[in-house]
This record gives sequence, structure tokens and C-alpha cells, in this order.
Amino acid sequence: MKSLALLTDLNNLEEKNKLIDYCKYENLEIDIFYQNNNFSEIKLLINSEQISKIIISSPKSLDDDLLGFCKKMISLIDLKILIFCASYDFPDPFQNAIRTLPYFGNSPQRISRIKESINKKASRGQVLGKIPFGYKKSSSSLFIVEQNQADVIKKIFNIFLENKSINKTVNELNEVSSKKWSYQSVKHVLQNDFYIGNYRRYNILIPNSHEPIVNNSIFTAVSDEINNKVSRKYKKNSWNKILYCKLCDSKLVTTSHKNYWYSNGERKSKSYKYYSCKNINSKDSNCKSLSISCEKLNSLLEQKFSGYNFFDQKYSDKYLYKIVSELTSGKIDFSEFKSEFQKLVFYLDNSQKVIKKIFVNKDSKEIILSSS
Ligand SMILES: [Zn+2]
Repeated sequence: MKSLALLTDLNNLEEKNKLIDYCKYENLEIDIFYQNNNFSEIKLLINSEQISKIIISSPKSLDDDLLGFCKKMISLIDLKILIFCASYDFPDPFQNAIRTLPYFGNSPQRISRIKESINKKASRGQVLGKIPFGYKKSSSSLFIVEQNQADVIKKIFNIFLENKSINKTVNELNEVSSKKWSYQSVKHVLQNDFYIGNYRRYNILIPNSHEPIVNNSIFTAVSDEINNKVSRKYKKNSWNKILYCKLCDSKLVTTSHKNYWYSNGERKSKSYKYYSCKNINSKDSNCKSLSISCEKLNSLLEQKFSGYNFFDQKYSDKYLYKIVSELTSGKIDFSEFKSEFQKLVFYLDNSQKVIKKIFVNKDSKEIILSSS
């Protein structure tokens, strides 16, 4: 298995020396130096030379745009290639890329001003991500157990198994712990298989890489409990995000009404849900009649709009930055990142065909739907 060093310019001695220094420091050997002119050539090279590691001089040597960079990173990681960035401060290629590469035509400087807080979070996460709570690094850069912290980690798993609730775990923990724990940080601990001895770099898993703090059966029991909770989550109705009143252009709201009646002396009730214009109660509104049963409108919408793509607010131009930040801070794992990234790419590729709003109107006979 060989290592490939990727430069923006093979003739740039400064760039080359910087990368060589970094590799010496990190004990990485370089077999081939290459300049990226064509990504498919790199893929051929990976095959023919059996490349297992790539060291990039900077994210720019892979791509000069964050979107293209992520596409290439994902396809390399899918090939099980380990990728390093020759930077002492930000050796994680993704984390380096959100600081240096432009995306959607915006410079990263501009973005980092807008998203300063996410930036800070990401760098905090990076420190936590490098040495998980419960471990320290030995002089030879190996992870060894930090006993006091490890006891806290064990406690987190035990409290969760007793209470089956992350919120309760957080509360109980904060009563006895000097470190302040949040919902996210506790959830991150409970889902982090580093504690059973696994080491991951993106999707590459090295089992038994270090001494575990938690045993497998406890970790599995906790994962099962958390996954069950997630699948029990209430599934949101997605239509209501894009329904608007044709008459006044305001968003439709959902309301519910309960009807009561008596049958054989027994009180019965049933709830009905309605989409209504939010101006339905205002005096001089023309929208008074706009209240339609959800069941009825949903089935009409499914007939008329199934197969269309809908505008999703979350895919604004900061979304890519957000998911890369979440990946580098460990908030989402690589497979979640990949699936969100693919949804984003699909959305960008189809943005011309996307429906942003559906207008609802009603005359005496029928419901009228139109879109934009
Ligand atoms: Zn209205």
C-alpha cells in the first residue's frame, strides 16, 4: 500500500517542502508526488498503485470549491483512503476546508464572520474529538485511560441505563460532576464507540485500538435504547411548510377541533384537524371560508403533487457549511454527513424544478391548488 502526496503545483518548492516537513513530523511516508489536474486520473492511480493514504498540501490541492471538495472527499473515503492535510493546526481536511475554501461564490472569510459561533464550536469539538473525555495521550501519542474521567464515563452509561432518558442523565450527572454536561455532550458520549475501543477516522474503523472504558454489552444496550427512541419520534407532516393562502399570501396554519357526542349514554369524542388561513378570524378578511380538513387536502395534494421536489428552507447557502462543521465537531458521523450532502447536491441539481409554495383557494364548489 502506497501514499500519495497531492500538491496544487508540483514545481512549487515551498509547498512541497511544507508537506515533506509535515509528513516527517507525523511519520508519514510519501511514495508518489502528484498534482491534481484531473480527479479521474487520481482514481486510476489509486487503483494501479494501490494507494491507501493521501496527504494533501491544502484543501485547494483537491478542489478550489467547498462543494467539489466534499464530493471528492466522499468518493475517496468510500474507497477507504485515509486523507491527511499537511497542516499542524487543522490536519482534518474537512475542518481545514471550511476555513480556506469558498463555496457558493462566498469567500470563507465572509462566511466565518457570519458563522463565527459555529466555527468556535467546531474547533472545540475538534479538541474533544481528538482526545475523547476519559482518555489522555501518552508521550508516544497513544490513547490511555484517564481514570477519574473514565469513572464519569462509566457513570453516564449506568445512569442512562437506569433512567432510559438523556435529559435525566444530564440532570443527575450535573448534580455530582464539576464539569458542566449538556444534552448534546452526554448523547455524544453514549453514542461514541471510542469507549469500547474503536477508533474511527471518518468511515474507517480500527477495532481494539485502545483500552475500552465501557464493555460491549452495555454499549449495545444503550445504543438499542437510543435508536428505539429515535424511531418513535413523531413524524412531521411536511405539507404544512409550503401551504399558503391564495388570497392573502400568508402561511396556512393547522388547527384541531374536538367534537363530543353521546352514544348509549357514553360520552365520545373525535378530533378533526384543519388547515386554515391565519387571517380567518380577522374582521375584514376575505379568507373566512378557508378552512379545509387536513385529511381531505392532504389527499388532494398527494394526487396533484406527488413526484415533485419541494423547497426546503434548510438548504440555504449556509447549509453546506453547517453540515461540514457538524461533521468536524463530531455532532454527526460520516454516514449522516454523506446522506445530508447527497440530499443537498440533489437539491442544487434540481433547484429549477423545485416547488417553493403551494397556494390554496376555495370556491363554493371545489378546492383550487396552484404552485410557484
Ligand atoms: Zn388568507
